[in-house]
Amino acid sequence: MSPSNVKEWLSYGKMLLKKSEIESYSIDAEVLLMTVLNFTKTELFTKDSHILSEEETEKYIKFLEKRKNFMPVQYIIGKCEFMSLDFNVNQSTLIPRCDTEILVEYAINSIKKNKFKTVLDIGTGSGAIAISIAHYCPNTKVTAADISENALKTAKKNAEKNAVSQKIDFIKSDIFENITSKYDIIISNPPYIKSDTIKTLMPQVKEYEPISALDGGSDGLYFYKKIISECKNYLNKNGELLFEIGYDQSLEISKLLSEKNFTEIKTTKDYAGLDRVVSSVYK
Ligand code: GLN
Repeated sequence: MSPSNVKEWLSYGKMLLKKSEIESYSIDAEVLLMTVLNFTKTELFTKDSHILSEEETEKYIKFLEKRKNFMPVQYIIGKCEFMSLDFNVNQSTLIPRCDTEILVEYAINSIKKNKFKTVLDIGTGSGAIAISIAHYCPNTKVTAADISENALKTAKKNAEKNAVSQKIDFIKSDIFENITSKYDIIISNPPYIKSDTIKTLMPQVKEYEPISALDGGSDGLYFYKKIISECKNYLNKNGELLFEIGYDQSLEISKLLSEKNFTEIKTTKDYAGLDRVVSSVYK
């Protein structure tokens, strides 16, 4: 007998995703069905005898099919949460990672402590970093740069969604190419995966997320080298340079920074205990 109500479709979805070896099959099926029905999680269980319309059924099956093929849930539903804010996502930008919240929290604390006023986010992607800073640090003016027109389009929509459009300038720029001011803090989560490593990433990353946002060149350090060697023209004295890094890049990046006379070079770990953020000050 084919499924008809919420309860039946939910267990069908879970079973289908489990068979396809999707580890998060249970929560994924729930989120997909909640999205189709516009239900809260509670409604999913209190209204479990709701019979799906033809349209709802079709949409849910399409969603399950995409997830079966490893498309990340966030791309399927077009949404994700970051720093307790809602973002739209699509395949022109990376899905914001919870590890990146460590970077943003570090930046917010530093901005408040040092009374920083101006922020540059290089490679803004969905705008998650720039928009979170604009939201949580109301006295800052943020510039968000990206080389990708489509990423900027997404970031601008996200700024509108989070009511911070007035506080962010969006600039199409290949790193510093079109940047003309100096800032109190420069922040970046650049592409940092070694080119050769990309093929070993999980299918949901390598087959769906933009490679241009992941590939950091043969040593994974291309963007750090470029930013570190050029940033002094764009950073105020006593300003801070803040990076998200790969778990094994802290030593190399700290060395690059000290060679360019940055001080107070510090590494912060993520929730998994891995090196994730490097901060430094320009004296
Ligand atoms: N942390 C990302 C990953 O999952 C990489 C992000 C980046 O290259 N900036 O692989």
